Amino acid sequence: MSANRRVDTKPEMSLRSALHRRGHRFFKDRRIDVGVTVRPDIVFPRKKVAVFVDGCFWHWCPQHGNVPGGPNASYWQEKLQRNVERDRRDDEALAGAGWVVVRVWEHQTLGSCVAQVEETLSRSADTSVARRPGLAGNGGAVRRPDSHKAEWGLEQPNLTSFRRESRCNS
Ligand SMILES: [Zn+2]
Repeated sequence: MSANRRVDTKPEMSLRSALHRRGHRFFKDRRIDVGVTVRPDIVFPRKKVAVFVDGCFWHWCPQHGNVPGGPNASYWQEKLQRNVERDRRDDEALAGAGWVVVRVWEHQTLGSCVAQVEETLSRSADTSVARRPGLAGNGGAVRRPDSHKAEWGLEQPNLTSFRRESRCNS
């Protein structure tokens, strides 16, 4: 099952280090049991946010996904179809257990991946902070949009320079 998922491929590593540089702390490749066992690439346990970096080939990206031709075409068709079905099953299982799923494609720029993750984090209540006594009146959600904006300003040049190398090769 995990044979399809390349561990520590470049897009995943790049996204992890970008998020880490921007002050986020998370687990990588952590197994989560939500009826089925899933293994997101990046896990924010307190916010219950799970991030997957999907390879264009294995996860059948609408832009770059294609089924190899030749005598094994039907094998590949079935295999890739199963991958996509498993992705959707994992999404549903996670959502059913209260997780928010973020999926980015390996062909996306690093900047757009980071933005997608941070946007989700900013909308997700920190479950551990929300339970602290004295914060109950705040409605649970603790958000600091201003500090995110400040970080964006600092990191923008790095994100732009990454754009070229983060392209999908196909
Ligand atoms: Zn793609």
